[in-house]
Amino acid sequence: PRNPSPTLRHPEHWCRSFSHFIAQCLIKDFETRPSVTHLLEHPFIKQAHGKDTSLRQQLSVLIREQQDVGNRIKTRYILPTTQTSCPDDDLVNLEVLDEETIIAHLQRRYQELQIYTYVGDILIALNPFQTLNIYSPQFSKLYHGMKRSTNPPHIFATADAAYQSMVTLSKDQCIIISGESGAGKTESAHLIVQHLTFLGKANNRTLREKILQVNPLVEAFGNACTAINDNSSRFGKYLEMKFTPTGAVMGAKISEYLLEKSRVIKQATGEKNFHIFYYIYAVLIKMLMQDIISSKLYKEQFDAIQDCFRIIGFTEEEVNSVYRILSAILNTGNIEFTSTSSQHQSDKNPFLMFFCVYLLCSAAALLSIGSEELQEALTSHCVVTRGETIIRTNTVDKATDVRDAMSKALYGRLFSWIVNRINALMCSDGQIIGMNVGILDIFGFENFKKNSFEQLCINIANEQIQFYFNQHIFALEQIEYQSEGVDASLVEYEDNRPILDMFLQKPMGLLSLLDEESRFPQATDQTLVDKFQDNLRNKYFWTPKRVELCFGIQHYAGKVLYNVGGFLEKNRDTLPADIVVHDASVCVCVCLFQYSLMDLLSKMVVGTPHFVRCIKPNDDRQALRFNKERVMVQLRYTGILETVSIRRQGYSHRILIEEYYYLAFRAHQMPEGSRENAIIILQKAKLDNWVLGKTKVFLKYYHVEQLNLMLREV
Ligand code: ATP
Ligand code: MG
Repeated sequence: PRNPSPTLRHPEHWCRSFSHFIAQCLIKDFETRPSVTHLLEHPFIKQAHGKDTSLRQQLSVLIREQQDVGNRIKTRYILPTTQTSCPDDDLVNLEVLDEETIIAHLQRRYQELQIYTYVGDILIALNPFQTLNIYSPQFSKLYHGMKRSTNPPHIFATADAAYQSMVTLSKDQCIIISGESGAGKTESAHLIVQHLTFLGKANNRTLREKILQVNPLVEAFGNACTAINDNSSRFGKYLEMKFTPTGAVMGAKISEYLLEKSRVIKQATGEKNFHIFYYIYAVLIKMLMQDIISSKLYKEQFDAIQDCFRIIGFTEEEVNSVYRILSAILNTGNIEFTSTSSQHQSDKNPFLMFFCVYLLCSAAALLSIGSEELQEALTSHCVVTRGETIIRTNTVDKATDVRDAMSKALYGRLFSWIVNRINALMCSDGQIIGMNVGILDIFGFENFKKNSFEQLCINIANEQIQFYFNQHIFALEQIEYQSEGVDASLVEYEDNRPILDMFLQKPMGLLSLLDEESRFPQATDQTLVDKFQDNLRNKYFWTPKRVELCFGIQHYAGKVLYNVGGFLEKNRDTLPADIVVHDASVCVCVCLFQYSLMDLLSKMVVGTPHFVRCIKPNDDRQALRFNKERVMVQLRYTGILETVSIRRQGYSHRILIEEYYYLAFRAHQMPEGSRENAIIILQKAKLDNWVLGKTKVFLKYYHVEQLNLMLREV
């Protein structure tokens, strides 16, 4: 520059500082893409390296550190053959167990690109926000059938453990993935499906390909870009992979629940509609203008979705039906209504009116119904008075509501139909008795600036998943100690049952109160808030004094302020009786299918659970950025810290004494599994800190490996 800043006045100085500056930029770049040779070879670095002592020192420290990290990453991740596990991999092995130590430990691992860490049998997954080289088939092979302690923690190890337990114990398994929005649940679910498909024998290539298309297809219709995540799941998904008793994959079945249908008609500022609308729009744009670059990616996605439909086995006619309904929704959404008595000239713009008639006719044609019929359904309604049916004209607002309700219902039914069709196509062998591994991937906990009914539904679902986790990890553990008469110092945990009761109890829970109020036609946002305030008197609920028509909830994951605007309407979610799309040629509209979360949880309870806790290391979606506070909050509310202590202080393993009897007895002696014999064995094995229950021996997590090692030596 002609006028360098005062501090950089001297040309030589300026030059040196400039190279210093470039070097700093390169270092920054290097931190995210470590390549030592690339850095050292750079002319600016060479120049700066020669002149500037402090920079030279800085560089050499950095390079040494990065080489060290690079080597470790290489040995542990890039070269699968030299993979090893170390005590570092499991938080329960830490000597000091306070929050600070755990965070520092996770941070160091994250900087080394070790995004996975165990807490006993639970997997913590930190979102890397970058593509890692650790999910190739080579890695699937590496984790195949291995003991967990053989390799570093990995999502494949969790999938593998579930699969192995299913095959050896002939018992259904489920993998529950939780974490807040953008933490990496859906990506983890994909990786689990990938590894399970690998394990379920590759010989049926077509079926494998079909299974791999299921997630992308439903996500095109059920995911959208939000303020937090560009590919945010707007529905809950439970994917069951079905296997034969010998472990060969047979098919898959998907259950969806609570699709955020309102997104079809309205999105918050900066958010988008469901992906599929952009894909079809890109194709339309492509037809109109040949080279719109921004639509290129969407067009590719559209092609990918076409492939998904084809590979899974949808007929061309079915796919056309899907696009017809999507187009009908797009057309309907643009219809505007004006009052016939309107005084405003602009409301009677002839072009707009013509355009709306055109949209109406197109929508009707796409849905195979008459345009008059559709117009009537949107603009009038029937009232029955004294046995007589009278047709009344809708107000503009009412007609708009009916239009929106119709779009939502159409989209909801379309989505359910696609899911049902996938199930029919993927599970033709449903009669064969087999087992399954279910993978639960729901929308994560959300707390936006403005939260509405949708956030409430999402957060209640997360509350339920947290409850299930607590039940499994803490409550059931306590129950077993008690029934075995074991006096263990039990770990305290945050029980979220009272919050769930506040939502779900009948008749006075928040959801029952909302249902009750929704039945009153005269109910308003204010009467709803008043009703909540009068009936919900506990520490988890409050109404802020300064913000109107709002209420706050102390969720397990933090405080959320909800705005009740639209709650009643959204909860009613009614489709006016006049809107019935019944033509058989658009078969997609006919069946409605809804799974409730409770159905889903009851299914999961039957299986043995495996937990994956996804953690978001920063809110800027930046690779290698570890925000301690954000991670700390997530570890706290997900109960990870308590889990570490219960896995460590508690007795996480129970053994059958017979398996270890020859540590103390000769083979022919065959001692019976009595308490006395158990004591002899455990004393002989020189184990300490064990507890003997009525029927079981309770061991610490580290005893098992100790015993197995001794067994090998005997
Ligand atoms: P939501 O609750 O909103 O659905 P989510 O927990 O399902 O969020 P994902 O969509 O899985 O979050 O992840 C958000 C983004 O983080 C992904 O689009 C991807 O860019 C990145 N990501 C997550 N996990 C990984 C991974 N293992 N490797 C690389 N990138 C990842
Ligand atoms: Mg998701």
